Amino acid sequence: MSERFTGSFTQQEPIPQAGIDAALRVMQSGRLHRYNVAPDEVGEAALLEQEFAQAMGVDYALAVASGGYALATALRALGIGAGDTVLTNAFTLAPVPGAIASVGAQPHFIEVTDDLTIDLRDLAEQIAATGAGVLMLSHMRGHICDMDRLMRICDAAGVVVIEDCAHTMGATWRGVMSGRHGAMACYSTQTYKHLNAGEGGLITSADPTLMARAILLSGSYMLFDRHKASPPPEYFTKLQPEVPNVSGRMDNLRAAILRPQLAALPAQCAAWTERYRVVEDGLRDTPGLRLIDRPEEESFVGSSIQFQLPGWTPDRIMQVIERTGARGVELKWFGAKEPSGFTSRYDSWRYARPRHLPRTDRVLAGLMDMRLPLTFSLDDCALIARIIRAEVGAVYQPA
Ligand SMILES: *Cc1c(COP(=O)(O)O)cnc(C)c1O
Repeated sequence: MSERFTGSFTQQEPIPQAGIDAALRVMQSGRLHRYNVAPDEVGEAALLEQEFAQAMGVDYALAVASGGYALATALRALGIGAGDTVLTNAFTLAPVPGAIASVGAQPHFIEVTDDLTIDLRDLAEQIAATGAGVLMLSHMRGHICDMDRLMRICDAAGVVVIEDCAHTMGATWRGVMSGRHGAMACYSTQTYKHLNAGEGGLITSADPTLMARAILLSGSYMLFDRHKASPPPEYFTKLQPEVPNVSGRMDNLRAAILRPQLAALPAQCAAWTERYRVVEDGLRDTPGLRLIDRPEEESFVGSSIQFQLPGWTPDRIMQVIERTGARGVELKWFGAKEPSGFTSRYDSWRYARPRHLPRTDRVLAGLMDMRLPLTFSLDDCALIARIIRAEVGAVYQPA
């Protein structure tokens, strides 16, 4: 009898009891809107922003309706709109080019390397070729590029960086929190990310003008003084008449659920990476399978794991997916022709009129992906690795 895994790849942990209690208190109060507070009360949304800013080591934070909304708001705060070109990773998820398209701008994709980070040589070439002023850098699946080199390239060319930290909340590069290199950073609190409010997003920045614009954009009416992790009032009075209201606030209920989770984030990140290392160890030296090198400078959050089946035919990759699937291990494949589930690739975003990217095509053709929810035990992770190893071994044919 071969071993079978019976856990669910989409099952997250329950909301901590402190979050459930806080959510009940908000519901009992009836004050769910973030600006609906009693005299002298600081609402849950404002408290979450304060705590998130502190956790990320930055002055300003704003809680919003989704990660995608956060990305679009960062672009609007930078004045990006119709006709502008925005550089971004070819290897990312649909909400990233979607946020760019939502403000009327054109995504321009940059190639990916074998280690799944943005190709810095192609980035420099495409900055020169397009004259684009903004890079929306997606730390896709938690892989962080050489941030020192990236910032040198962008600073030298006057390119402003927005960081998509949907998969790097809690991660660092050379000890600096992910999100602290660019002008603005965006996070998601959707169920499958590092904090779970069902939906939701956060924006951080050290730039008072950008953050004042983001707060006004999010729909703060004349109530921006109820924010705590925010720039002083003079920034708002000056900007208020110029900035449209594009409502996308977070409510007190979601913020209440998130605050206890944020307090536990460092421990949760460590638990994810522990699981990642168990799967990685179990897959090491599997013939035909290449693990992704993780640079020493990067302290990542292993909430998912990727590996390559380099040079494999689509037919054999499909056999691996079917065989592991039959044993309860759900592998996603970035090389599939048709988008499925959350997984799609740059050439399926046809509205962006993507250029042909041969290096990215080669990397995605063999790229496998798997979530590691914290409901998996370390034993589960070892079992999952044994199943993948056995089924890759059963299908692999050396060239
Ligand atoms: C989830 C995600 C987003 C956007 O988050 P939503 O909250 O779902 O809008 C952005 N970028 C990446 C890479 C993501 O995975």
